[in-house]
Amino acid sequence: MAAGNAKSPAAQDNHKQALNEFMLGLMRRNPGEGEFHQAVQEVAMDVLPFIADKPRYQDLRILERLTEPDRIVTFRVCWEDDSGNVRVNRGYRIQCSNAIGPYKGGIRFHPSVNQSILKFLAFEQTFKNSLTGLPMGGGKGGADFNPKGKSEREVMRFCQAFMTELHRHIGPDTDVPAGDIGVGAAEVGYLFGQYKRLEGRYEGVLTGKGIEFGGSLIRSEATGYGVGYMMDYMLRHIGESLDGKTCLVSGSGNVAQYCVEKVNHLGGKVVTLSDSSGFVHDKAGIDADKLAWVMDLKGVRRGSIAEYAKEFKADYYEGKRPWAVPCDLAFPCATQNEIHKMDAEALVKGGCKAIAEGANMPSTPDAIEVLQEAGVLLSPSKAANAGGVAVSGLEMSQNSLRMNWTREEVDEHLQGIMRRIHDQCVDHGEDKDQVNYLRGANVAGFVKVANALMAQGVH
Ligand code: NDP
Repeated sequence: MAAGNAKSPAAQDNHKQALNEFMLGLMRRNPGEGEFHQAVQEVAMDVLPFIADKPRYQDLRILERLTEPDRIVTFRVCWEDDSGNVRVNRGYRIQCSNAIGPYKGGIRFHPSVNQSILKFLAFEQTFKNSLTGLPMGGGKGGADFNPKGKSEREVMRFCQAFMTELHRHIGPDTDVPAGDIGVGAAEVGYLFGQYKRLEGRYEGVLTGKGIEFGGSLIRSEATGYGVGYMMDYMLRHIGESLDGKTCLVSGSGNVAQYCVEKVNHLGGKVVTLSDSSGFVHDKAGIDADKLAWVMDLKGVRRGSIAEYAKEFKADYYEGKRPWAVPCDLAFPCATQNEIHKMDAEALVKGGCKAIAEGANMPSTPDAIEVLQEAGVLLSPSKAANAGGVAVSGLEMSQNSLRMNWTREEVDEHLQGIMRRIHDQCVDHGEDKDQVNYLRGANVAGFVKVANALMAQGVH
């Protein structure tokens, strides 16, 4: 099925006007929430033309309903640091939509966390979860807490204080959080322990848990592996492969690390990694041994990527992003809005042919425009990084069944899910001789949630 996109100039003018009116209303109702506006605009650009000839979606105000979260919970998180000082942070849980399953989405601990960022993430998550084909709604949460420079005990006390409030809003059939930036396996363990203590029940209320207490194999690897699989399917669709391709990866955290591992496995050569201090360019390629060193640097020693340059005699560029390095493929895996218009122009100039987004919303709207005009294949985050939440969904299934699947079984499910996401993007985004993955993901993600909402009556 192709996307219902009328192409005449008059139809395009109508779509533009509908988009402007919709966005003006959204911006009036949500002032100062730039990231949320950006995420909605990216979806509305494709969904409004799609529903233009489908009055039922319009009459029932489906897009208006999906852009107003079911609820937003904010709360005080009060904890004591190692010196006995009382500290105060703000916690959030945004429950966007439970039309197709319990709310599901990560928790982010980062000083930049605010309502706008979490609303954009919860909105994106709703579409992403829909694409996985698993019964999961969309949500997101977090706090403006900076784990950097905190002791393990301080992080634990913060997690306990955060869950002391959050526990009343979540549950295995209502809302199932997971990790995100600043929330890895250790933090999920502390959050789970506190939930269990408060509720007196042992249940799969969080995903990304340790293997010993209900976690799934491959969950840590899933997002990065999924990004690699998505790129592989995109290239196969045009009769190519990753073999011998020069690849840029940004970030050096969970998603970036396992993306590098999968790209290496599929025959690509990764030459960059980055963090909040800058990026490294290693012309010889980041092989398995160097990657193991990075995992220790970031996961255990919590050091800066600058140390990589010294250890392996690579080039280091302080305060810069890697997008001007010539490449065939790019994998932004650090954070939102890390590819600006100038970066997109540099990527095109450097020969980049395809991008799979590991981070959520890493490309700004004007960067997307540049990339699309240049014919660069772009798989958006809601499709390319859905592997993480997909395996979280499989963790929920394993918890309900009270059994554990093997690595091979989970990886097989993950590949199947990424393949189906790819194919849905093609179904809804095929445009002459090229696939518009952005439109494909937006429309395919929308259709399932919209149909569920319509079936459940006006609420
Ligand atoms: P991590 O915390 O493990 O790693 C984040 C990486 O990005 C670090 O290298 C960090 O640098 C870098 N970074 C953060 N902020 C900036 C910035 N402003 N400029 C440059 N670099 C920055 O997080 P994840 O790998 O888990 O997440 C990365 C992205 O992937 C996020 O957008 C997240 O929402 C998304 N995602 C993650 C999923 C998961 O399963 N983990 C699932 C789906 C999406 P430093 O080390 O200096 O802090």
